[in-house]
Amino acid sequence: MLVRRDLERLLGRVALVTGGAAGIGESIVRLFHKHGAKVCIADIQDDLGQRICESLGGGPDISFCHCDVTIEDDVKNAVDVTVDRFGTLDIMVNNAGIAGPPRPDIREVELSLFEQIFDVNVKGVFIGMKHAARIMIPAKKGSIISLASVTSAVAGVGTHAYTGSKHAVVGLTKSVAAELGKHGIRVNCVSPYAIATPMALAYLPEEERTEDVLTGFRCFAEANANLQGIELTTEDVANAVLFLASDEARYISGDNLMVDGGFGSS
Ligand code: NAD
Repeated sequence: MLVRRDLERLLGRVALVTGGAAGIGESIVRLFHKHGAKVCIADIQDDLGQRICESLGGGPDISFCHCDVTIEDDVKNAVDVTVDRFGTLDIMVNNAGIAGPPRPDIREVELSLFEQIFDVNVKGVFIGMKHAARIMIPAKKGSIISLASVTSAVAGVGTHAYTGSKHAVVGLTKSVAAELGKHGIRVNCVSPYAIATPMALAYLPEEERTEDVLTGFRCFAEANANLQGIELTTEDVANAVLFLASDEARYISGDNLMVDGGFGSS
């Protein structure tokens, strides 16, 4: 039986989750909220973000802020809105990320695709870390968690920019962890294996994102997984993020927590 304390691992903490309107980010928002955190969702999808707030009761402990993580003023504003509304910022989750279509021939990759992916996945994470530090350093505490990927450990054919961007998230995490440790701030990242979220099919035209295609993606992921018979869910990833955000991880910093069933090390 769950004791009440188990349900309140983030009681009174304030969190900002970028890309919190869908997929893994939505699961993080819901889990943090369930564990007593005050949560601000920062995303470019306003309708979805507002809908999550409503579905969580629309109370004083949940809010939405429009934010494109590639725009520094947007991230600065999201951090300031969170602090104005909830008083501080204890947990920053740099979750927003995009993937592109796999391109098995590097000679055909447009530079614009590479730049777009690095803009969101690397620049967006850097800006999130920078503005979280602005609040957390004077407070002398905080936890910054970014979403990397199993591709931070393995290559992936034709995913040049995505794989490169997720390796960069690990490098940023280690560098910022080394800098902010003296201020009592922990900095980590989480690396999931493949999950059939909207991102997995986002590069396909709308009409091709059918249930069949999603099922195909799921089957492919399952068939290639290291750990067989268990499907990875967005909740599994949210649980790893919750752990790193909580006091149970109080001496963990600079780490890349793999949620990949051993895929990256096999
Ligand atoms: P998703 O597409 O389901 O959700 C991503 C969210 O980020 C969306 O709500 C989207 O609107 C938002 N977003 C995109 N660009 C943004 C921007 N510029 N500014 C603000 N918000 C933006 O994706 P997901 O699968 O939940 O991915 C979340 C994170 O997990 C990403 O960093 C992704 O790279 C990583 N990841 C995903 C998988 C997977 O298989 N799904 C595996 C490993 C890592």
